[in-house]
Formats: sequence, structure tokens, C-alpha cells
Amino acid sequence: MAIYNRIADFHDDLSRIRRDIHAHPETAFEETRTAQVVADELEKYGIEVHRGLAKTGVVGSLKVGNGTKRIGLRADIDALDLYELNEFDHKSVHDGKMHGCGHDGHTTMLLGAARYLAETKNFDGTVHFIFQPAEENVAGARVMIADGLFEKFDCDMVFGMHNMPGVELGKFAVNPGPIMASADFVEITITGKGAHGAYPHNGTDPIVVAAQMISAFQTIASRRTDPLDSVVVSITQVIAGHTSNVIPETATLIGTTRALQLETQNMIESEMRQIAKGIGDAFGAHVDFVYDRRYLPTINTPQEAEYSARAAADIVGEENVIRDKLPGMGAEDFSWMLNERPGCYVLIGNGVEGGPGGCHVHNPNYDFNDDILTVGASYWSRLVENELA
Ligand SMILES: [Zn+2]
Ligand SMILES: [Zn+2]
Repeated sequence: MAIYNRIADFHDDLSRIRRDIHAHPETAFEETRTAQVVADELEKYGIEVHRGLAKTGVVGSLKVGNGTKRIGLRADIDALDLYELNEFDHKSVHDGKMHGCGHDGHTTMLLGAARYLAETKNFDGTVHFIFQPAEENVAGARVMIADGLFEKFDCDMVFGMHNMPGVELGKFAVNPGPIMASADFVEITITGKGAHGAYPHNGTDPIVVAAQMISAFQTIASRRTDPLDSVVVSITQVIAGHTSNVIPETATLIGTTRALQLETQNMIESEMRQIAKGIGDAFGAHVDFVYDRRYLPTINTPQEAEYSARAAADIVGEENVIRDKLPGMGAEDFSWMLNERPGCYVLIGNGVEGGPGGCHVHNPNYDFNDDILTVGASYWSRLVENELA
């Protein structure tokens, strides 16, 4: 492996930062301590710091030479609402909050690259180090963009990275095209007419209407989507009724949908709306339909995916870059940045199951693997040195 020795030399500093952030997890838009740690580090490296985008977002800008090219590197900084079950020294000090997705490690790897690049300045152009809050649940990337991220810190391309338990330490996975799915929220309230359970003809049963809808929604995947494309429609909550002999007045369905293409995401919304309204009309029930776009599909542009793969191969060797990773149906708010600029989202192996770093993310026993800090920071640095040569 051709990791940067200069970065390996300060691995202990990175590990200390990572564990400090791990011990002090903060969730969506409340990452004030984490933002302070990031800002302090960047300033220590002599990097210009901007704060306040999406409340707790931090952007460090480093310009070297006269090159006009600008590259954005993004790390997410937020934690999860999860009770940590680990017992090590750096376990969470905040009950019910945990860095269970490794964003503590993402933040630290990007700080490692910032330190190296500020010290060596072996590139020509501008790097924007984007530390983004609230990746989980509420798409903080979208808020940073709305707050003017790319007006204030324009980028010709943007890159993101996530650790991947189950993939060996020292491996990367990247592919052009979709790598993660969209994720939307849907809530349908069906209002019928309540009645005695023994006299259903006196009412309009919203539960029967809901049942028709739940089944019909499945035809979006099986009969409205190209079989070579991928769609998930999951109704995950059915809320109705309170006793056995009363037909309730209302029923509510809540769920999530996933797609790998923007057009497919659009199609799901319009099909669900049409099915919900059509079935409501057919049975004489009123339907309120709420569809909230949360995450777009994360789609890597081919050129930038190639840049990512090349930088990864330079560090870990071509044989350790998985270039045909199938996309997952999970979601990632970096998709909003890729919707604005060309770029690529890469996965870095965190370790295989049973070994260090092998525990899956969002599990209370998860921990980011400090052994990949140097690998990730070297990848970021190489990417900049390659593309801003
Ligand atoms: Zn997560
Ligand atoms: Zn994550």
C-alpha cells in the first residue's frame, strides 16, 4: 500500500481527534462542539475557515498557486440517536447519541488530508473542505446548498466518502452511475365514515380502502418499473382503529420509497398519488396525500468516478479497487451535492465481519476503524494532487 508516510507520521493525532469526536456525538444541526473542533484544527493548519452554513457547517478553503480549478471534498459530521453499547474509553458520553455511522472517522480523514495538503501544498488550485452537518434523516447537504454553499465556495467537482464494514481494510469500492438510492417519505390519510362493526354498510371503511392501496402500490415495482431498473415501495406503518367492534373514521399509511434514477423517483410519486386518489374515489373515501422528497439517488458522474478510482488505485493498488460495486437501496444526502456539481461518492473498506471495523453501521456496537484513517486521508490528498496537478 502506498499510503502517505507524512500522514502516517501523524496517525496518533488523527486517532486522538477521532476518538474525541466519537466520545462527544452530536446530532442534526446541533454539532456545535464538533464544528468547533473542526474549525480549531483547520485554523491550526493555517486554512481559512468559514462557519454558519446550515447552522453548524464548516468550510475550510485552501488556495495554492494560480490554478483556477476548484475541488470540493465533503465529510459528514453528525451522529445518530442510538444508545452505544461499546465499553471502550472513547464511548459516547451523551446517553442516546452515538457515532454509529462512522462520521467521526469521515471528519477526521478529511482533517488529515487538510493538514497534509496545507503542509505540503503540492497542488495548484483551490480545495474546499466541506464539513457538513445532519446527514442522517434531514439532509443537511440540501440546507448547506440552500444557504449558498456553491455560490460562496464554488466547485468544479465534489467528492464524498463513506466507510463500509464488510469490505476489507485497504480496499475501495466505486462505480460510475447510481451508487445509492433516493429516499422519500409518504403519508396517506384516508377518511371514510365510521360505523358499527356489525353494520359496515352504514359507513365507509377506511381500513378496506387502505388494504387495497397497500396491495396496489406494489404494482409500481412489478408493473410500472422497467424490470432492469430498481424500485422499493414499503408501507411501514398502518395506523387505524382502536377496538374490535368499531369501524374507524380514518386510516393512515406511512412508508418510504427508493429508486436509483431521478425519473424513476418522479414516476413513483405520480403513480402513488394516482393510485391513492383513484382507490379513494372508487370507494368514496377522501384521501390526503403527502409525499416528501428527502434524498435524491446518489449518482456518480463517469469522469469523476474515474478520478476517484485512479486516486484510490494510486494508494491501495488497482487490485484493491472494486469497480463494479452494485448500488445499495440506502440513501445519502451527498446526492444533493451531486445534483449540483459533477462528482463521485466512494466507499472505503472498514474491515470484514468478525474483525476490527466489521460491525455494521447503525449498530450499537459499531466503531470506526482507526486503521483506515491514514488510508482515507491519503486517498483525499492524492485525489487533490492528481486533479489539481
Ligand atoms: Zn448512517
Ligand atoms: Zn453515514
